[in-house]
Amino acid sequence: MDKIDITIIGGGVTGLASALYLTEKYPDKTIMLVEKNAFLGDEQSGRNSGIRHSSIQYKPGSLKAKFCVEGNRLITEFCKKYDVPYADTGKLTVAVTPEEVAKLDYYYNRAVQNGAPGVRKLTGEEVKEFEPNVKCLAAVYTPSTGIVDGATYIKTMKNLLGNTEAIVFDHTKVLGVKSQEDGLVVKVNQAGEEYEFLSDVVVNAAGLFADEITRMVNPDFHYKIKPLRGEFMKFNKNRRPELFMKGMPVYPVPRPIPGGMLDEHGEPKTTSGTHLTPCFDLDASGKAVISNFVHVGPYQVPINNKSDYESNRAPPEVFVKDLQKYFPGLKVEDLEQEFTGIQTKIEGFDDWILERDKKYSNFITAIIDSPGFTASQAVGKHISELVEQIYAEKKEGIEAVVGALGK
Ligand SMILES: Cc1cc2nc3c(=O)[nH]c(=O)nc-3n(C[C@H](O)[C@H](O)[C@H](O)COP(=O)(O)OP(=O)(O)OC[C@H]3O[C@@H](n4cnc5c(N)ncnc54)[C@H](O)[C@@H]3O)c2cc1C
Repeated sequence: MDKIDITIIGGGVTGLASALYLTEKYPDKTIMLVEKNAFLGDEQSGRNSGIRHSSIQYKPGSLKAKFCVEGNRLITEFCKKYDVPYADTGKLTVAVTPEEVAKLDYYYNRAVQNGAPGVRKLTGEEVKEFEPNVKCLAAVYTPSTGIVDGATYIKTMKNLLGNTEAIVFDHTKVLGVKSQEDGLVVKVNQAGEEYEFLSDVVVNAAGLFADEITRMVNPDFHYKIKPLRGEFMKFNKNRRPELFMKGMPVYPVPRPIPGGMLDEHGEPKTTSGTHLTPCFDLDASGKAVISNFVHVGPYQVPINNKSDYESNRAPPEVFVKDLQKYFPGLKVEDLEQEFTGIQTKIEGFDDWILERDKKYSNFITAIIDSPGFTASQAVGKHISELVEQIYAEKKEGIEAVVGALGK
């Protein structure tokens, strides 16, 4: 059977960043990335808010908190180095009721504990200096939040990978992975043809489908992904003076995930709720500039089908109802429909799965929901370190055999 060294399943930001770190670490190994769609980044990675988060929301000590702070720094360095458009906007998380003001304190403390730099509490009056049309009782300001042009970020990683020896196949869907003594057998379908090859190491970065892929190799893997659709709309901030924004993402206080989902302690899992996000657009010369349009969303809807991007989309009224609490100038007629994205949420667990498989340790699973865009470089780096562990153990194993036989 044909054999390669490292296979990466999934061409989103996790798979791409892992591939880049791995090609740097192992220039002489055969590294292959397979993506089922025609375009890389066509699922979660290309359908998100493009926010470079600061880590206000995540449980201290969690993988999300750790990799968000490191990832924020690394993605900024990447954008500077490779000319990917980004902006240091800062972000407001706003409270509109006394209960929310109390919750805001909790998130302020989390941000401080997580090491998010420069976090500050603001009064409702102070918020006006940042965003004059935002109305709230209090806010937390996180200056390290920003936005990144996701399309250019993905294209840049793809181009960089094109300059290495790595092989990238789109239109190539993984159908099966099974373990045997000399490696992992990966079965793919490309243009209707099935093909099997052997791989030393497999990195499963298949996003929404990563749970199903890990179960192919280890049926005991018990985590299940529930898809949560996020729907976006947009408005032109220059349409009326009450819609004007200086250009800062504005988030409500985190709230329970719609439809109810619990964490490992039986507590409701939370999400960031419908927010306002500046974004990039191309100007007449093709240069990325901050758009006059502001994204509104994601309005989150639990769904059953991991590929259901469009059925029963929410009307603008529900967006306005959510937004008017802190952005009172918005009216239904201001909104235009935008894209949707579907996010991985793990039922009964509130962190990422980022680990070598318990049974087949040369197989790595990466189930990475938000802030996975922010954290992508840090996650890619970590995955390359897990692969390094695998090869180090293999080498130790060989040395042990040689040592034992040589006695
Ligand atoms: C609505 C929304 C808003 C978000 N906002 C933000 C934000 O503002 N900031 C932030 O940091 N994060 C945000 N996120 C989270 C972030 O987008 C994800 O965490 C990140 O993109 C995950 O990347 P990934 O590469 O792991 O997964 P994906 O991007 O989903 O990539 C997985 C890839 O695997 C491929 N694949 C699946 N099955 C197979 C198979 N059998 N064979 C071959 N290929 C396969 C898929 O086609 C896909 O391309 C948001 C997500 C959503 C959905």
